[in-house]
Amino acid sequence: MRNVSGKLLPRAVCAAAALLILVTSGCGAKGTYTVIDASAMTEMKDVSARTVEGECLVYTKKGDVFRAEDYKVREALTGVIVNPPQHTVMDAALQAEKWLDAGERVMIIYIDGLGWQAFMRAAEDGAVPNIGKLSAEICASVYPTITPVNYAAMVTGRPPAENGVTKRGIHAVECDTVFTYASSLGLASYVSEGDIQILALPDAELELSPDLNGSGTGDDEIFERAMEQTGSCDLMLVHFHSVDDSSHEYSPVSDEARDALVAADTWCGELLAAWDGRVIITSDHGQHVQDGTGDAAYADRKGTHGDFAVSDIFVPYITR
Ligand SMILES: [Zn+2]
Ligand SMILES: [Zn+2]
Repeated sequence: MRNVSGKLLPRAVCAAAALLILVTSGCGAKGTYTVIDASAMTEMKDVSARTVEGECLVYTKKGDVFRAEDYKVREALTGVIVNPPQHTVMDAALQAEKWLDAGERVMIIYIDGLGWQAFMRAAEDGAVPNIGKLSAEICASVYPTITPVNYAAMVTGRPPAENGVTKRGIHAVECDTVFTYASSLGLASYVSEGDIQILALPDAELELSPDLNGSGTGDDEIFERAMEQTGSCDLMLVHFHSVDDSSHEYSPVSDEARDALVAADTWCGELLAAWDGRVIITSDHGQHVQDGTGDAAYADRKGTHGDFAVSDIFVPYITR
């Protein structure tokens, strides 16, 4: 088991920790950054304080992500999450490796573009009975909050600065993935993906599924291919796309995005029933209603992502 950097310090739960206390020492030359308070779900832009008190999750401009206590700012930052969640998307690989070590089979279901707030709204409305009944915790993405960067963090357990996927257009991961790890244990991995291969994942059998039946999404095909493999691999990753696609096309708070999530929940229900092993259900980022910022690739769409913002950076982390 490789070492777990930035992993799971116990979250301090006390009234004082709920307060963001920043100590300014004056003439810092490291620039400003955004502070998100995960307990209040608020964000503060252009902060220049040189010390962040209490427990925090630090995001550097170079793509490092790490946990710290009373952090003294010594390099250029994108942002800091105070009162941070216990999980980051990197835990998917780290958790999967622990379970594989223990002889358990692991399925990772990756629902693209499913933010924590959208998930919670649907769960509270009873719209996602299959995933809603499992243990769900809030989880932090890495930055930028876009697909390839978080996909790579999810399958490597390492931040962008270490796995090399720091921006769009990079397909090669520079370190071992959870699939490499499974292969080293003599275990078989399978990935059910959409019509485009986002990352090179050399140690997994990867199957691409375009929308063959003209249903408007390839997710039903992705689901069907995954169902066929539930008995024949030890580690499976299933990547659903339609929540993200619908959120871009209509809005992250649209009926269409909700319908896409309901469909994904139904497929998850069947996969959960068919899978004899552990399950991790998570996402790469949330979305916000387009306001001229965020993911330039979708600038003409209604929903977008890519920011260091509450809407984009928190996702669910659901386990069984
Ligand atoms: Zn995505
Ligand atoms: Zn997207």
